[in-house]
Amino acid sequence: MKSPIVHTVSTSIYKNQIIDKINQRLKIKIMQVKCTSCGASQNIDESQDCSYCGNLIEMQKGKSNFQAITKSEFGNFIMMAETSEEATNYNEAISYYNKILEKDTTYSDAWLGKGNCIIYTSKIGDIRMKEALTYWKNSIKFAEHQEPMQLRVSKEIDSVVQTFFPNILDHYSKFAGLDDSYSELAGRFLILEGGIDFACQICPDEPQFFQTGYDLCEMVINAPGTGASSAQIAAAGSAIFNTLAGNKYSVESDNADWQKANARKKQIKEFGNQINHVKNKYLDGLIRLGVVEEDEVTRYDMPKSEGSKSGCFVITATMGDSNHPIVEEFRNYRDKKLLTNTMGKVFVMFYYKIGPYLAVTIERSKLLRKLSLLYIVKPIYKRLKNNINYIND
Ligand SMILES: [Zn+2]
Repeated sequence: MKSPIVHTVSTSIYKNQIIDKINQRLKIKIMQVKCTSCGASQNIDESQDCSYCGNLIEMQKGKSNFQAITKSEFGNFIMMAETSEEATNYNEAISYYNKILEKDTTYSDAWLGKGNCIIYTSKIGDIRMKEALTYWKNSIKFAEHQEPMQLRVSKEIDSVVQTFFPNILDHYSKFAGLDDSYSELAGRFLILEGGIDFACQICPDEPQFFQTGYDLCEMVINAPGTGASSAQIAAAGSAIFNTLAGNKYSVESDNADWQKANARKKQIKEFGNQINHVKNKYLDGLIRLGVVEEDEVTRYDMPKSEGSKSGCFVITATMGDSNHPIVEEFRNYRDKKLLTNTMGKVFVMFYYKIGPYLAVTIERSKLLRKLSLLYIVKPIYKRLKNNINYIND
């Protein structure tokens, strides 16, 4: 009979603890208020700084401000619009905002809400940033206090852009294999980026918006990963295999694949450079605001196309001098002959992959340099000479 008693006692202690906790929670009066500076509604339990504009909200004033608005002519529409927006029913929210604006074109909060919702009703291929920006500008123009409103608008834009961005990235990752996928991603991103750019313009002293711009640029630049390169290498590898196996038609289709993969890689580089340029704009802002130090930064530019001086790794390592006349001749051969036909390009590309490793090994050993001269450089050089003479004839 002992154990049930113990059990009862411990249960009642537990119950009391729960009741205490509930009472504690009830004592805290969480109130919905509307900031008296920027008009953003939020829940607070005591006078505190607005989470949008940073100005102090006095509990009582914020509360009566909220009540005044709910009781006003447009109170119902604002509540309905905000509820629809929360339920991600953006078209319905827009229709409520429109009802307000039809009667009062200077209703700042309605412009802001409409601008936010417009982005979410966009299609991936048609992001309605231009419209949204017009509405956001109106919300500042008609605001009672412009400066706090600028910060509020920027914060809203920041969150809208960050929420919408994964959609375009996700769309890209699904269709990354298609020819123009990266230029589309870059183009869409640059439209979306217009919002963050605006936020940075109206709040030039707020690092968070520059940080968002910077981070999103990084994600777009890194989005292709190694996909394009591996498609290129796969096509090249297949072409070499089929050449060796004598499959002429396969070689032709491999060449077509290789050229496609190559074109895509080129496109990624071009648009990547463009985004990198945009990224530097945000980086400059972060440096100006002291978030990042100039000397910590390496301004990464996409690699330029293979320089004419570089690349003859094995030959240079063997001859011991990058200006050796034989090295010069190899270089000319690469630029004038090899790079003008597809199989030559494939060879050069493979050479670039393995050449550096080979070169380091050769450079370290006298014997290897002799062997390389005897069995690699001289035979190729001889054939190359014949080839050039043959072309010249
Ligand atoms: Zn505020």
